[in-house]
Amino acid sequence: MEIRIEKAKTLKEKPDFSKLGFGKFFTDHMFVADYDGSGWHDARIVPFGYMPIHPASTVFHYGAEIFEGMKAYKTADGYQMFRPFENLKRMNNSAERLCLPEIPEDMWIEGLTKLINLDYSWIPDKAGTSLYIRPFMFGNDESLGVHAVHNARFVIILSPVGNYYAEGLNPVKISIESEDVRAVRGGTGYAKCGGNYAASLRAGKRAEQQGISQVLWLDGVERKYIEEVGSMNVMFKINGEVITPALTGSVLPGITRKSIIEILKEKGYKVSERLISVDELAQAAENGTLEEAWGTGTAAVVSPIGHLYYKGKDYEVSGNKIGKLTQELYDELTGIQWGRIKDERDWCYKVKI
Ligand SMILES: *Cc1c(COP(=O)(O)O)cnc(C)c1O
Repeated sequence: MEIRIEKAKTLKEKPDFSKLGFGKFFTDHMFVADYDGSGWHDARIVPFGYMPIHPASTVFHYGAEIFEGMKAYKTADGYQMFRPFENLKRMNNSAERLCLPEIPEDMWIEGLTKLINLDYSWIPDKAGTSLYIRPFMFGNDESLGVHAVHNARFVIILSPVGNYYAEGLNPVKISIESEDVRAVRGGTGYAKCGGNYAASLRAGKRAEQQGISQVLWLDGVERKYIEEVGSMNVMFKINGEVITPALTGSVLPGITRKSIIEILKEKGYKVSERLISVDELAQAAENGTLEEAWGTGTAAVVSPIGHLYYKGKDYEVSGNKIGKLTQELYDELTGIQWGRIKDERDWCYKVKI
């Protein structure tokens, strides 16, 4: 794969790496490639900046857009990415669902590494910080006809991000949404596409107005079974067993979810991937068998849940404190990602600089 590199003439001033927040700053370069029906061409790394897009481009009218989210962590002699080929697999599953072209493995890994190598000085080194990687693709036909696209653009942008928990691992408040739904079986729930997020914003806004940080979605048909939280999968420890909603097609198959399940099983926990109804969860909260609850996702890694709100009731989880297992899982997974714990499962893709 030939990648043309056009370096930025002037480099940006770096932000204060101790005050990064999430997704606010971008590095000096970005990767771009175009697809024209016959294949990918003109793979290039160019200065980060605006892209002229035709006003009739498919993405603006029919929402053909998919994305990924992953992280690179600074190491003593370079950096490492966490399971980047899992993200490629998921990106291509999303592409298949939205009739967008697949990304070849060599373009994926060479695009990522050449871009990060060039912007290596943007990988923050403070505790808990990392370089967030946002690959995305959109349909880019310049016509208003409704059909599977012929032209697409694939872009990778990079953003140094801070510790998600500036004041330590804090339990979040989650409201169980009984009105809006995010996805239905047969729809695009398992694809990481912008459209799923567009559909989720109204409920998120309503929750925010009540001081609640995220929404827990129920299945789109019966509004009975727990699906996932905003941009995280969800897990519950009930009576010593860990239960997480099965991947029924409307739930996003998280890579953090998959990794945490592996870690839990190795630790000897019983993990059930199955349907869990909101009534079962409420009952467990009421009779004290709900011991811990947490979300899993690339941005926050493991996020403890302190309160669940459902139909006017407030269920407190683990006394609104971080559960013991939640903390253990956070420490283990971030330990592997930041290189503090030996990566025995070969999850990290290491690059020397
Ligand atoms: C990305 C995402 C997740 C988490 O996936 P990870 O691979 O663990 O980052 C969960 N739910 C939704 C809706 C997502 O978009």
